[in-house]
Amino acid sequence: MFSVSADVEDRGSSCRIRVGFNTVLNAKKEARRLNHDILRTFSTDGVHTFGDRMATIGIDLGTTYSAAAICRHVGDVRVIPNIEGQDITPSVVFFPETDSGDEEPLVGMMAKNSAASAPQCVVRSIKRMMGDKDFCYYSPNGHELRPEVISAFILKHIKKYVEVDLGEAVTDAVITVPAYFDDVRRTATKQAGRIAGLNVLQVFNEPTAVALAYGIGLQDVGRILVYDLGGGTFDVTLMHVHDGEFDVIATDGDPELGGDDFDREITRLVVADLARQGYVVDEDNEDILCAEIEEKAEILKRGLSNVPQSTAMFTIDGKNYRVRITREQFEQATHSLLERTRERTEILLESQHLNWADIDRLLMAGGSTRMPMVRQMLQQISGKSIGNEVNQDTAVSMGAAIYAKYLETENGRNTDERSPASVREEAPSIRISDVTSQSLGIVAKNPKTGEPENSIIIQRNTHIPAKYSDTYCTTIDNQRSINIQVTEGNDPELEYVRIVGEKTLPIPPHPKHSPIKVTIAYDIDQTVYVEVTDLVTDGALGTFEIDRADNLSEPEVQSLQKSVEGVAID
Ligand code: ADP
Ligand code: MG
Repeated sequence: MFSVSADVEDRGSSCRIRVGFNTVLNAKKEARRLNHDILRTFSTDGVHTFGDRMATIGIDLGTTYSAAAICRHVGDVRVIPNIEGQDITPSVVFFPETDSGDEEPLVGMMAKNSAASAPQCVVRSIKRMMGDKDFCYYSPNGHELRPEVISAFILKHIKKYVEVDLGEAVTDAVITVPAYFDDVRRTATKQAGRIAGLNVLQVFNEPTAVALAYGIGLQDVGRILVYDLGGGTFDVTLMHVHDGEFDVIATDGDPELGGDDFDREITRLVVADLARQGYVVDEDNEDILCAEIEEKAEILKRGLSNVPQSTAMFTIDGKNYRVRITREQFEQATHSLLERTRERTEILLESQHLNWADIDRLLMAGGSTRMPMVRQMLQQISGKSIGNEVNQDTAVSMGAAIYAKYLETENGRNTDERSPASVREEAPSIRISDVTSQSLGIVAKNPKTGEPENSIIIQRNTHIPAKYSDTYCTTIDNQRSINIQVTEGNDPELEYVRIVGEKTLPIPPHPKHSPIKVTIAYDIDQTVYVEVTDLVTDGALGTFEIDRADNLSEPEVQSLQKSVEGVAID
């Protein structure tokens, strides 16, 4: 039995974060409140007017690329192209320095193309920072922008191009998140949607969206494994799909592993090659050159998915350098990254006491699965051939659109011109059951070591809604209060888990080692409730919801929503 501990240190620390190769952004130790006044100086957006029709869409808000789709009815799911006619849009925001000091962010390909010439004005991979309250980007115009606001700019850009395409106002959306995203990051994503002016029907797991895009309408799919290697994240999920039922069995992921990391390895190869040719890149002082290398690294990487070697040209100080990278070199340099995905995948199977023979379908999603070594590795370990069952770029947004349609119909809303009866008939008939991606517990002293540690109450991969209890005990005679710190994370060591809520509750005096029951309930919308009971008297000591201190407060969201409403975004 563990005892409830009263004191655990706050482990917040300051850090400097490198986003991409050379875009150095500062994260602050203290949570900085966004100064809303600065946003009021933002200029106003061009006003679009639409008819009465309102659209509900699915949005894949990716680390490196985002996409949007609409489902009018089953069988009619369409990815909406951006203004350049592309299905996917780089999740990149460029903040030009303006005369007025107002922010006029550019999103997408134009922003990505600006990265090489003005790397300090460009923010990429902001999804990796979602839910980090200590992170702010300092724009060249002197504004401090939280990840929710930068993501809101991306979402607003998407909303805008979708509205132009559809000729309808986009009001509601389902936004996808990696399955392993914790409560804080999910809430941050939802808030980003709201700041962008969207009614977020739900945040929805990316692998489930992939499975939906693939399995909707199929009678008997069976057990599927979704391997999703995107730009910044890796997710692997086991599901059971049968006749419209999508049951998540278990999920795992690595939030620090994606195509960006493969780019970084190519970047190293390029820098090494340039050094061999006599040019030593000064990574601390050659921002522009580093950004150019970073940009070309990704192009080289994509090239290597199709051809055995690819070449990039650099002109430095008037001299031309030709850098050639072979697929073999690349695969060697990134072997350990690929291995990390293999290990996670196999551990997930083992955790469910399954082997490859138990898997009926293997789905690959995420742009990075285009690298031939990914398919080879998966085919080799699974002994299965993998086709192109889903489109790597658009499956997530399509699944999100199908789910959005389902929720819209469930909620009794109809954005379809046809009769409500025919709409309901053609609405997707699905049932989704999900699991917790992170364990939940409390901080308690280990009786053997006396050290505080993470005592898990709800194990990860438990079906939600879930409600579990565990019994602890007081540590001293006549203890007058207990401090409950709710943890989220799978590791016993507190260093690797997040404290998501905390409350000190008074208790009646009892001898030491008196039992206390702690119950944690996990709702379908991912809300966590905690209930504490004194087992000596069987009396309730208190119930509380986790406080989400790492998220924006409701007034902050509303205020940012108003501010961002007036921002011109291209
Ligand atoms: P996310 O959802 O994380 O934004 P995506 O699924 O859109 O990511 O995938 C983007 C990643 O896929 C990027 O790292 C990109 O470089 C990589 N990628 C796209 N096409 C290819 C390709 N042909 N070969 C290798 N990597 C690719
Ligand atoms: Mg993705």
